[in-house]
Amino acid sequence: MDNCIFCKIVKKEIPASILYEDEELLVFKDINPIDKVHLLIIPKKHIENLFSCEEKHKELLSKMMLLAPKLAKDNGLEGFRMMINTGEKGGQEVFHIHFHVYGGSEELAKI
Ligand code: AMP
Ligand code: ZN
Repeated sequence: MDNCIFCKIVKKEIPASILYEDEELLVFKDINPIDKVHLLIIPKKHIENLFSCEEKHKELLSKMMLLAPKLAKDNGLEGFRMMINTGEKGGQEVFHIHFHVYGGSEELAKI
């Protein structure tokens, strides 16, 4: 997707604070964190959101899900919250699927 900001991060056309990368996934710090630790897990392949996901995406989605607790621990979190805003009415602003993983403060930020 030409105009997708997260695709541009994948292609290293714009900078991001990257914490993890493999063949399929990329993890970077949210530019506008809502908690002490706030990461975004994205697939490198452009998928709009959960509404666009099908049976063929289940391995990718479970890989993203299973990466979350590892990243949380690696970033010093004993607990975390995960959020997947889906669709404009679900608060989604960037239309490249991403899992928010955040935590670290005494009181968890709630959206
Ligand atoms: P959402 O509302 O779920 O679509 O969230 C999009 C998230 O992407 C927001 O939390 C933004 O702060 C974050 N974001 C937008 N642009 C960037 C960027 N260039 N680098 C890192 N995070 C970004
Ligand atoms: Zn994209």
